[in-house]
Amino acid sequence: MIPIELTPRQAMIVDIVKKYEPITSEQIADKLNLTRSALRPDLAILTMTGILEARPRVGYFFTGKVPQSFLAQKIKDLKVDQIKALPVVITENTSVYDAIVTLFLTDVGTLFVTGDDGYLSGLVSRKDLLKIAIGNADIHKIPVGIVMTRMPNIVTITPEESVYEAAKKIVVHQVDALPVVKIVLEGKQEKFKIIGKVTKTTITKLFVELVEM
Ligand code: ADP
Repeated sequence: MIPIELTPRQAMIVDIVKKYEPITSEQIADKLNLTRSALRPDLAILTMTGILEARPRVGYFFTGKVPQSFLAQKIKDLKVDQIKALPVVITENTSVYDAIVTLFLTDVGTLFVTGDDGYLSGLVSRKDLLKIAIGNADIHKIPVGIVMTRMPNIVTITPEESVYEAAKKIVVHQVDALPVVKIVLEGKQEKFKIIGKVTKTTITKLFVELVEM
């Protein structure tokens, strides 16, 4: 069930209609000690969103339907942990050539990179690799550590954050992928353990699933 954020009065109206349907607006107004005109905006919202149905000369019914507009609430409630995908991770000394091969073999657009300690140290995107490949560099000899975007400049997301926050970071920072990380304290230093990814594809798939739900 999708959570619905109704005002307390709208929630009361829904409860009354559920209990007494069919019920006229006068009868609802009576039960709430309000005038019919005071109720009109709430009834308009509840019928427009499809929660209530108004039948002329009969009254209001509860439809039991969850309106599409409340998908937004669902997206805010969903956690990154529930939708994260498997990350593809390489190490800093992987050659640019091998990174490109990995990109094709795993059918992804972004590779996450770990340092010697096994924690996130950077990432390379398609264009990072293209840029170096179209120059005269020997891509067999150049490690990705040289061409990657490096920490602390990586935009990350944690499993507890919402899918909405992930989508917003992707849009604001104009990137295709975010590593999902668990922050680990090593001494006084924060390290980022890679536990997944959220990409534009993850969000697009979810979007389709939610509408078809
Ligand atoms: P592409 O470069 O293939 O268009 P992106 O738009 O994801 O893919 O990447 C644009 C640039 O931003 C690249 O230089 C890449 O290294 C960097 N980048 C990608 N994802 C992130 C991220 N999560 N945090 C910081 N920088 C990133």
